Amino acid sequence: MTAIGIDLGTTYSCVGVFQHGKVEIIANDQGNRVTPSYVAFTQTERLIGDAAKSQVAMNPRNTVFDAKRLIGRRFDDPKIQEDLKHWPFTVLDEAGKPKICVEYKGERKVFAPEEISSMVLTKMKETAEAFLGCSIQNAVITVPAYFNDSQRQATKDAGAIAGLNVMRIINEPTAAALAYGLDKNLKGEKNVLIFDLGGGTFDVSILTIDEGSLFEVKTTAGDTHLGGEDFDNRLVGHLAEEFLRKHKIDIKGNPKALRRLRTAAERAKRTLSSSTEATVEVDALADGIDFHTKISRARFEELCSDLFKSTLEPVKQALSDAKMSKKSIHDVVLVGGSTRIPKIRSLLQSLFEGKALNFSINPDEAVAYGAAVQAAILSGNTDSKIQDVLLVDVTPLSLGIETAGGLMTNIIDRNSRIPCKQMKTFTTYADNQPGVTVQVYEGERAMTRDNNHLGLFELTGIPPAPRGTPQIDVSFDLDANGILNVTAVEKSSGKSRNITIKNDKGRLSQQEIDRMLSDAKRYKVEDDRQRECIAARNKLESYCFSLKSTIADYGDRLNDSDRKKVRKHCEETLKWLEQNMSAKRDDYERQYKQITKVCGPIMSKLHRSGSNNTTNGGPTIEEVE
Ligand code: ADP
Ligand code: MG
Repeated sequence: MTAIGIDLGTTYSCVGVFQHGKVEIIANDQGNRVTPSYVAFTQTERLIGDAAKSQVAMNPRNTVFDAKRLIGRRFDDPKIQEDLKHWPFTVLDEAGKPKICVEYKGERKVFAPEEISSMVLTKMKETAEAFLGCSIQNAVITVPAYFNDSQRQATKDAGAIAGLNVMRIINEPTAAALAYGLDKNLKGEKNVLIFDLGGGTFDVSILTIDEGSLFEVKTTAGDTHLGGEDFDNRLVGHLAEEFLRKHKIDIKGNPKALRRLRTAAERAKRTLSSSTEATVEVDALADGIDFHTKISRARFEELCSDLFKSTLEPVKQALSDAKMSKKSIHDVVLVGGSTRIPKIRSLLQSLFEGKALNFSINPDEAVAYGAAVQAAILSGNTDSKIQDVLLVDVTPLSLGIETAGGLMTNIIDRNSRIPCKQMKTFTTYADNQPGVTVQVYEGERAMTRDNNHLGLFELTGIPPAPRGTPQIDVSFDLDANGILNVTAVEKSSGKSRNITIKNDKGRLSQQEIDRMLSDAKRYKVEDDRQRECIAARNKLESYCFSLKSTIADYGDRLNDSDRKKVRKHCEETLKWLEQNMSAKRDDYERQYKQITKVCGPIMSKLHRSGSNNTTNGGPTIEEVE
């Protein structure tokens, strides 16, 4: 069974597969090896990827992105409250969970972040299926190393909604290191720093690779709001000022113009990674005035210099957290599209005093590459290249429970290897206490109120005893996906009890997943129907146009009545098309049948009349079924 690896990014996603002894990164239907993590809803259809991103200026309120910033979080999460101010789409509070509200086909629709991510995953799945020529179920999906339990679980749920069996969730830096480890035959233990600067986020991780086959995340650091889009913003600000200076038009309050300028700015930014100058051209930017200008790499670097420099801080932070010196880092690996920027590379290079940076792997593909390798390993691929790779990940945050006085008591320490199982024994706080509440938290702060609440359950039926006598074993079981199971057993009674953790924080119930799954199927059917409808319309329209041009060129070879007949039908059908912009597929097909029935035989007379013009690039006529 073939399994794929998916890098589900905040701004771009990427899919790969291990085949014939190597990883293949798969291009989408637009020929692009990365796909925007965008989903758009219009009056007539749903768009995913490039098609969604390219219409964002026209349809900002119904074009959804950044689902990865929402997934597995609660609505009142301060990060979400901050991001809310910048999103052009509507995010609602539904029973404590953030939901995205859009207008689709004239109706109000509400989606969970998991559903939006599942749509992006579906696109990646279909991209792989088109390439491999078979249907795919199994996948490995990557998440940032700092994702907590509920964000990981929610990402898994998104996979399930997309009809994928998520074999494992792995950390992005681990995946990148895996890709990197494959490229080299490492000997002994090596420390690697992964510098991942993407579209909206910046992550630094330090990993240890042992004999090229053991990967361990030591520390993570970064900035959840720093990336390529911030550089785009700086460029947009600069260009808008220039437009104001030149044409006395201020586009600051004109969202449509700003978004069109942003698209041009992102393109210019990419050009500046390989050339020292880029042109920016936006026709009719505002008030019908074209904006054509040039920008140099030096100016771009100046505009972003503080942002670029700020990327070095988390690097230093990660080193000090890992208690490592720059010298003990054997390799620095660049990941994320923004590490193509030459200035970023040179800053990092000088921090590491000229140590060769590693960009042997394509920075925007490294994560998907590693995920594809992991997928192959898990599906039992025995290729010698991947045979002895074994992954070790660590917990990004400590996991523990609340004890008397609101204290955080760790059961699994931060940076422990996963999978792992840890147990600690607890007791009662009062005499004859009949039960305890086990509150599960993650985080590094001393008081649980400053940490992240994961869930709670009650253990009741403790036999009466003086305080401090009963023994309660609480065990934490963290599986390979970073998903946590907590159990508590009261020892003196000797009875085993059924304990459920009420952990629906940011999680979906099976019922919700099932509903979303069936919605996803329905949307796919709708999408396909829409595509077929457009195809039927295009077929009819292009048939009419080809008739028209053939008659214009060769109509004199037909008799008057035939020629008139074709012209009349052509005109009538084109008029009908104009008046029926959103007809049904059946209607288009019926029209097509009618016109081909009348015009087909006439046109084939023309065909038979043996004109030598129909061969070399002359107008061709479609075959009549
Ligand atoms: P994500 O953060 O979603 O994982 P990527 O790692 O693919 O995404 O990074 C996307 C970012 O990289 C975008 O902001 C994009 O503009 C930027 N980028 C891609 N190619 C280049 C390039 N050649 N030069 C500069 N920036 C680039
Ligand atoms: Mg990324």
